[in-house]
Amino acid sequence: MNCIFCKIIAGEIPCNKVYEDDVLMAFLDIHPNNSGHTLIVPKEHFENLLETPAHVAEALMVAVQLLAPRAMAAVGATGFNLGVNTGSSSGQVVMHTHAHIIPRFEGDGLVHWPTKEISAEMLEEIAEKMRVL
Ligand code: 5GP
Ligand code: ZN
Repeated sequence: MNCIFCKIIAGEIPCNKVYEDDVLMAFLDIHPNNSGHTLIVPKEHFENLLETPAHVAEALMVAVQLLAPRAMAAVGATGFNLGVNTGSSSGQVVMHTHAHIIPRFEGDGLVHWPTKEISAEMLEEIAEKMRVL
């Protein structure tokens, strides 16, 4: 398969590996948004989070809890953003499930997504369409 993360997992492409177990691998992002930017990937190829079995997704979140404090400590950050881009419209470029841990520093200049105006009626219309209650 022509997947860059599968090649990294297979050892065909080098990476700065920081964690590995039976299910997951983690390494530093080669184009970091901030120092310590870390990617956690399942070893098995799944296209995105929604295609990823629940037990693998659970392991991914447990690994975030392990690795985010270590990434922050490594670079002296005080917070982090967790990102899981899903679908090309979201900015997903590598179609192999991965979580981004992006360490954050006060005043580091990274901007949050802008908000949009929405009416109460539209909020409720959307909520009604997606409810599983
Ligand atoms: P996406 O936009 O798909 O959520 O994020 C893919 C991420 O993978 C990007 O942040 C990009 O910098 C990173 N990336 C792409 N190719 C490589 C690579 O060969 N090595 C490493 N370490 N990261 C990569
Ligand atoms: Zn893959």
